Order: sequence, then C-alpha cells, then structure tokens
Amino acid sequence: MSKENTPVAAPAAAANFIKNIVEADLAAGKHAQRRWAGQPGTAADHAAAPLDPAKIRTRFPPEPNGYLHFGHAKSILLNFGLAEQYGGRCHLRFDDTNPEKEEQEYVDSIVDAVKWLGCSWETAGENNLYYASNYFDWMVQFAEYLIASGHAYVDSQSADEMRLNRGTLTQAGIDSPYRKRSAAESMDLFKRMQAGEFADGAHILRAKIDMASPNINLRDPAIYRIRHATHHNTGDKWCVYPMYTFAHPIEDALENITHSICTLEFEDQRPFYDWLLERLAEGGLLQRPLPQQIEFSRLNLTYVVLSKRKLIQLVEEKHVAGWDDPRMPTLVGARRRGYTPAGFRLFAERIGVSKHDSLIDYIVFEDCFREVLNESAERRVAVLDPLKLVITNYPEGQTEEAFAPNHPLKPELGKRTMPFSRELWIEAEDFMEEPSKGFHRLYPGNMARLKYGYIVKCTGCEKDAAGKVVKVLCEYLPDTKSGTPGADSVKVKGNLHWVSAAHGYTAEVRLYDRLFAVPAPGARREGDPEGLERDYLDDINPNSKQTITAQLEPSLKEAKAEDCFQFERHGYFVADRVDSKAGAPVFNRTVTLKDSWSAKPAK
Ligand code: ATP
Ligand code: MG
Repeated sequence: MSKENTPVAAPAAAANFIKNIVEADLAAGKHAQRRWAGQPGTAADHAAAPLDPAKIRTRFPPEPNGYLHFGHAKSILLNFGLAEQYGGRCHLRFDDTNPEKEEQEYVDSIVDAVKWLGCSWETAGENNLYYASNYFDWMVQFAEYLIASGHAYVDSQSADEMRLNRGTLTQAGIDSPYRKRSAAESMDLFKRMQAGEFADGAHILRAKIDMASPNINLRDPAIYRIRHATHHNTGDKWCVYPMYTFAHPIEDALENITHSICTLEFEDQRPFYDWLLERLAEGGLLQRPLPQQIEFSRLNLTYVVLSKRKLIQLVEEKHVAGWDDPRMPTLVGARRRGYTPAGFRLFAERIGVSKHDSLIDYIVFEDCFREVLNESAERRVAVLDPLKLVITNYPEGQTEEAFAPNHPLKPELGKRTMPFSRELWIEAEDFMEEPSKGFHRLYPGNMARLKYGYIVKCTGCEKDAAGKVVKVLCEYLPDTKSGTPGADSVKVKGNLHWVSAAHGYTAEVRLYDRLFAVPAPGARREGDPEGLERDYLDDINPNSKQTITAQLEPSLKEAKAEDCFQFERHGYFVADRVDSKAGAPVFNRTVTLKDSWSAKPAK
C-alpha cells in the first residue's frame, strides 16, 4: 500500500475547509446582491426578480445512471448540510445530459435515497428539484453565443485526428485546420447539426481557447456533439447534446449555485469552468457573481469498492442478490442492512472534508453505526445457535414472567415481559461438558444466572448417537429470581441469555459480514510477484452471508420492517424491509457489538 492508501483513523469531529470558505463569503457579502427568479434562468430572467432569499445555494448533481453509494452519501450530507447550516438551499439536480445511459429507475431510487438520508430540496416554500435536460434550449443558445463572439467553432476532423492533434502533457497540441472557420460558417454548420443533417461524429463544436495550454482541458475542449439518440426526458427533440464539462457549469449558473462542490478529479476542469462562465457573463447571459467550483477528496473505504462499474458488475454477474443486497455499499443496500441515516451523519461529521486523498478504515464506518444504535436500539434476546436446556425441578406446564429492561441507559423506555418455563433455548457455546480455563457458564456442577430469571445449577447433559450434546440438564434455585429480595443470596460469575422453548419465535436471521476479505480489493499485495494482476472479484469474502434459524424472544414476532434492535451479546439487527411479512419478520445483522476483524491477519 502506498502512503496515501494507508487507512487513517478519524478524529471525533473533523475539519471541513468548505465551511471556512462559505463563512468568509458570507462575511464579505459576496452573494448578497444576487437575484432569484424563483426558478433557474439567465441573467435577464433573474435581473427583474427580488433578491435571492437563500444565503447560499449548493447542489447534489447525480447522473441517473446507477444507484447511489456510500460516497454519494458524503456528498449529499455535505451539500444539504451546508445549505441547512447557513440559511441556504440545496438543489437536487439530475445531471441527465447524456441521452444513452439514463433511466427512470435510477431517478426514482436517487429521490428515495436522498429523502431517506433526511435531506430535503423542498424548503422555505421552494421546490429545488431540477433536470439538467430542461436547460438544453439555453445551452444551445449559449453555444451559439460563443460561436458568434468568436469563442467556439465547428471542427470537422475525425475523432482520431482530434485525439492526435490534442498533444500530450509535454507537447503542445496542433490547431485544427477548421479553427479559422468564420463564425458564420460555424453557425451554419451548428444549425445543421441541430437539424439532423449529419451523422454522429461528423462534426463537433469546440471552444476556441488555446491548443498550446499546459492544461489539456483548455486545448479547445469539445462542447457539443451530434448524437442521434432518444432522451428519457426530451425524447427526440435533440440530436445534439452538450458535453458534461460544458453543461455542468451552465447548470450551476442558471440555478444560482454559489458553491459548486465536486470531487478532486475535477480540479483540472476548474479553469475551463471559470473560462466558460466568464465568457457567458461577459455576454450578459449569466448573473454575477458566478458560482465557484470547490473540490474535496472523495470517500474511499477499506474493504469496499465504490466504483460504479464494479458495482454494476457485482449485480450483473450475481455476486450479490441485487442493488439492495445488504452487503452492497449502495444506499438501498445500507437501508436493508440497518445502517441508519443518523449513523451516516455521524460518519460524515467524523471524517470531515479535505483535499487530501484518504482511505477510511471500515472500522471507523461501522463504529458510527454501533454508537448510534447503542443509543437508539431497544434490547432483545435472541439465541442464534440454540441448544435445549431443561430445568428438571421446574414444574412441567408452568410459565411465569421475567422482566427485562428495553434499554439499560433509558429506564423511561420501560420493561417487557418474557415467558420463563421448564424448557429453554440457550446458546450452544454457553455449555461445555469439560470447561476450559476461565469458563464460567454452564458445565456439570457449576452455577450460572439465567439473565432476568433464576440461578441454575448444571447437573449434566444428554448426547445423541454421534456424541453431540443435544440437551443440557439443570436445577433452579427458587429463591434467586432477578428483581426479588433473594436474588443476590447466591453469587455466580456466569450470566446467560435464553428464550422459552414453548414461546420462542423461530426466525430466519442473516449474519452479514464484509463483502470483501481484504482491505484493498483487487490491489497488489506485499510479496506479489512482479507483473501479477489481481482481480477484485477474487477478493470477495466467501463468508459474507450466513443464513441461520434462530430462536428469538416472542415479542420480536411483532417487529415491523426496519425496526432495529440490539440482540444482547450479539450485535445490532434490523427487520428486513423486503422479506419480512406481518407477524413473521426476518432479521439482518447490521453490525456485531465489537469489531472482530482487527485481530484477523489480511489474507
Ligand atoms: P460517474 O463515474 O458515473 O460520474 P460518480 O460516482 O461521479 O460516477 P455522479 O452521479 O456523477 O456519480 O455523482 C454525483 C455526485 O456525487 C458528484 O458530485 C460526485 O462528485 C459525488 N461523488 C461520487 N462519488 C463520490 C465519493 N466516493 N465520495 C464523495 N463524493 C462522491
Ligand atoms: Mg460523476
């Protein structure tokens, strides 16, 4: 692993340099004179309108070509969080300028995920949900302005020629022979491109900047291309579509965005972002001050892949059950897994926002959910590996109530009752016929407490033909029931949980674990021979899902989809929102109580 790939532990609340920028802008009144027409528009549209009531405007601009993942959550919480904190608005904008890859299914899932995280684009009487494809008329108008003002030309070189003439990092590019075309000729060609006279790739509109610029992004970047394709929003209205780098700054400016926050790989695009908006503002087309692009480092997590291409591959090749598989780092997956919005917020706070590429340890991520769930989740009892315990001196057919607090830190949440009877389920690991050193739970002759119930003394066990223990026998001490005056009369070291066999709810429980077995899936590892290429798919953890039949305390039968609980001693579990039926919930393990991976060596 290289240095910047070494995982870092995050501090309690980390710095966020973007807040400093926003605060400085607010103090200077930088955006105070902007006007807002109540919807996106050009300088003329906004000019006649009142002052913008929003102190700042940010946006989350997903391309609807996939499901959102943990990295997007960082960006969503950052953008909506800034707007909320500083009296601003955050827009949800679908960056749907590419006609080929986008689908309604993704639009719907993005809307759901942003809402689920608790973020709203409907605030202060505004509804700031936008589609970039609704701006195509303006984009074409702006492109024509650039042609007319000598800042753009139609190039008719082939794609290969253009690539060759672009130059390299060390070598300047070469001017296209079409660069000197008159504005009138370029305008005529661009109109005919729009009219559908040419095949895809026959011509392309380019900004006229500088083929010798050390920044390759300024070597006459393409801004409009021909694409005969049907768009999910605009249908067949257009056969020319803007390039992303042209469309995005314009979308920001039309929407009065003040701080356009994106990930670091767009840093080299910033000069073009500024160049373009400056030209359009000079032409009186856009309101000033113009939006400012600010880059931050994207989220990278150990044991997780976040690349869209890889996530699609995991789903399409059925390495997981779908986009919402609880092991997927998607927000739909997170929701089924029981990772809560509050946990994501804590995580975002904790990792902060910086310009340094960093790799966050998965433990930092999981700990946020442990912390949040420890506070919020009610406690319940679940026996995940059931073994029968028979109390031979307890009357057959008798049942009594045991009382268990719903939350040890929150007495106001009250207690629930659990039926106690002669036959109980206990964890198989809580009995040892021949105890190892330090084992304080049940073994012949030893006493232990059945939590919230009585102290029992183990008297022996029964085995099947194969010698496997199938039943543990014990006697109870009638005066020792928890919560009664005699409870402390006998001291024991072991304390075990149990579920009454006659009353328990037999349920399917899925024990989920990390989808990948190594911190950097697909990366070369120390000692790998020269030239060895690893495939991240080979690093899939074969034990990332285990489905078991568990015995749960009876009240869990009534759990509603998405209810979260701590199963005492085991971890946090959630009633699955897809597979649970009324009166028959299925549970997913969100996270264990303690991390069990730190001690494991990387394979
Ligand atoms: P693509 O490669 O398809 O562009 P993308 O992950 O960038 O994928 P977008 O839909 O363009 O997907 O992303 C929407 C927003 O989420 C962008 O502003 C992007 O910067 C941000 N984003 C994407 N991935 C991360 C990440 N890992 N960490 C933080 N922000 C991210
Ligand atoms: Mg992107």
